Amino acid sequence: MTQMMLKKGREKAILRRHPWIFSGAVGSMEGSAKLGETVSVCDFQGKFLAWGAYSPNSQIRARIWSWDEAQDIGPVFFRMRIDQALKLRSECINTEKTSAYRLIHAESDNLPGLIVDRYNRTLVVQILSAGIEYWRDEIVQILAKLPDVDCIYERSDVSVRELEGLPQRTGVLMGELPQQPITIQENELKFLVDPTTGQKTGFYLDQRDNRQFCRQVSGEKSILNCFSYTGGFTVYALAGGAQSVLSIDSSEDAIQTAQENVALNQGDPKRCDWIVGDVFSELRTLRDRGQSFDMVILDPPKFAPTAAQAKQAARGYKDINLLGLKLLKPGGLLMTFSCSGGIDANFFQKIVADAALDAGADAQILYRLGQAPDHPTHLSFPEGTYLKGLVCRKLA
Ligand code: SAH
Repeated sequence: MTQMMLKKGREKAILRRHPWIFSGAVGSMEGSAKLGETVSVCDFQGKFLAWGAYSPNSQIRARIWSWDEAQDIGPVFFRMRIDQALKLRSECINTEKTSAYRLIHAESDNLPGLIVDRYNRTLVVQILSAGIEYWRDEIVQILAKLPDVDCIYERSDVSVRELEGLPQRTGVLMGELPQQPITIQENELKFLVDPTTGQKTGFYLDQRDNRQFCRQVSGEKSILNCFSYTGGFTVYALAGGAQSVLSIDSSEDAIQTAQENVALNQGDPKRCDWIVGDVFSELRTLRDRGQSFDMVILDPPKFAPTAAQAKQAARGYKDINLLGLKLLKPGGLLMTFSCSGGIDANFFQKIVADAALDAGADAQILYRLGQAPDHPTHLSFPEGTYLKGLVCRKLA
């Protein structure tokens, strides 16, 4: 067994159960491990600390599997961890009403680098680490035996894999792919999803509870839904009795699917308006026309994947929030989100506060929102929190 010896004093993070070992913390290696193979991580005196997966190409040189020396890392271990993840979902997802949800959320489910989303009877797998790649066949075999699974599809077409020295890859791993798109259910609403071509693994599952919140407050309101994708918030708002919803997205395909999703849920097409366009410029056009809304939703893509892009991203967030607040009627609600890992909740709140100042808007926070519980954050892994939302009310 290869040993990874840490430098003196560099064992603190791992003793606090953070699952990453950065290259700078590694003193020496004894033995030669292959990409993704299990190594024993030791302190500078050779005392066992944890089992980890070796990733020689990455700044994150190892990801921890277990802190228990007696634990054998193999199929039984993965079965146990997957069972733990399933238990949480059986507690937090009502499968009578919702058929699409995240089954495994990587580090925060103690399975670093593994994402598994369920869309009805299809599992979509995303492998982001050398360690999971090493155990891929064993993990797929375990997933294949879970109840109500007919197909497993891999969507490892993300550039972060290159940091781990892994090529991008997609394709069927088990069973036969159902005809695309499939119709999933979320809180009893229906959505068309194509996990083979859709953004992320097909749907923004992390926003489920926030869409439900939107449904609860949208009665009689005129709503502007920016970055609408396939109409998640649009469909919920109509189900909640919205008087009108204007949805904007730059993807023509997404808007097309959003229109189909409204029809699928018997939403009134006369209450809907659609713009295929750039939110940054469309908001200016709406402002120049003097339009206003009872509620504005801003759910942009990740402007800052890491802290390095935070400053540049902040300008983008401020811009759309400033315009969004201007377009709100007095008493109106702003539902604003950031899914950037590089921007934390405090910084995001400050950006929105700056936007309100510049917009001349007096506003207050009513609710703080986050990702749904099928996207948990492990307490030892604060990086697992990426989605932040604020519901603000404009006073004047
Ligand atoms: N709220 C959605 C998810 C939004 S994802 C839901 O609940 O499902 C972000 C969306 O922003 C994507 O659909 C992407 O096509 C769109 N987008 C990215 N940049 C944009 C821009 N500058 N203007 C308009 N849409 C944009």
